Amino acid sequence: MKTSFTLAQLADPHVAEADKILRACVHCGFCTATCPTYVLDGNELDSPRGRIYLIKDMLEHDRPASAEVALHIDRCLSCLACMTTCPSGVHYMHLVDQARAHIERTYRRPLGERVMREVLARLLPYPRRFRLALTAALAAKPLAPLLAALGATRLAAMLNLAPTRPPGRPLVPQTVPAIGPRRGRVILLAGCVNDLLSPEINAATIRVLTRHGVEVVIAQGAGCCGSLVHHMGREHQALDQARANIDSWLAVPGADAILINASGCGTTVKDYGFMLRTDPAYAKRAAAVSSLAKDVCEYLAGLPLKPAGPAPGRAVAYHSACSLQHGQRVTRPPKEILGKLGFAVKDIPKVICAAAPPVPTIFCSPILQEGCANAKSGLSRDCDLM
Ligand code: SF4
Ligand code: SF4
Repeated sequence: MKTSFTLAQLADPHVAEADKILRACVHCGFCTATCPTYVLDGNELDSPRGRIYLIKDMLEHDRPASAEVALHIDRCLSCLACMTTCPSGVHYMHLVDQARAHIERTYRRPLGERVMREVLARLLPYPRRFRLALTAALAAKPLAPLLAALGATRLAAMLNLAPTRPPGRPLVPQTVPAIGPRRGRVILLAGCVNDLLSPEINAATIRVLTRHGVEVVIAQGAGCCGSLVHHMGREHQALDQARANIDSWLAVPGADAILINASGCGTTVKDYGFMLRTDPAYAKRAAAVSSLAKDVCEYLAGLPLKPAGPAPGRAVAYHSACSLQHGQRVTRPPKEILGKLGFAVKDIPKVICAAAPPVPTIFCSPILQEGCANAKSGLSRDCDLM
């Protein structure tokens, strides 16, 4: 794709990066076939190619984002299927990240949206605050249909996303010793939302690792990976969270890896090196953290796994999270692990993004919310267990 940035614009490393990405795109449109938002509404502006054109136009003219650009970029689920499909290696993720930061800086959203985004950015990444909010949301959940009928659809969407059980307690900094001879030592990102909504995932991760001789450290001072606010374009907040994690993790001696079991968070931590490449104080340290970052299944696949009990012999269908298969290009380890543990793993023939990450789910239009829900229910039809 031909671009027309001026030399003065290209002196900015962010613009230079956008230029490099845009020039790689040859407009072929292969990416449209795997883009869930384009598949759902057929609007070119809700396809990766259409979004790339919108971003190009906005950045080249260095103009404030319009309501139209904000709408179509907001609808992007960041599933990154377009990056897997693209034959030209267009790094859509870095381009859309830059577009989101530009929108955040230059577009004044309607009041209700601004308030909602502010609330999310101040709550979700901070487990203690979010725990209080979840407790309140649990009490208010029955009001979701009424709020939706009154037109407060985003508030209703947030209440619908709230769990039906009380939130867990965030993991505290600690070192959990290996059971038996120690064969490894890892740092585990406890995370923010995940640790409260599904505490059993971190608990199971720690059990499996320690049972296989791996010491697990939850580091003092680590918190949200930054992806929640990064996807909202709040670049400064995201980079501050990344720096806090880098300081915290690099203070832990002797760690073989930094493990992450929420794949969206893993995609972001693996990108810290890029995100902080222009920060002289953090560039090298961020790259070091990214090189240590692994999805938990990548690490487990390298261990001689022992089933906890007799082989279950059940057929399971494995639906790979978009951020794991497209963001991190990790596809085989989860199936290999399930196979080693005695499960018969079935492939799901046709999969598009089905889970709808939290921020777009709250902000995208009802048609996309409905489409994502339909995709998800369609996936479960052919499976004994997902
Ligand atoms: S990240 Fe996903 S939703 Fe966004 S443009 Fe690419 S394929 Fe479409
Ligand atoms: S598949 Fe790649 S090169 Fe083709 S239009 Fe999409 S982003 Fe551009």
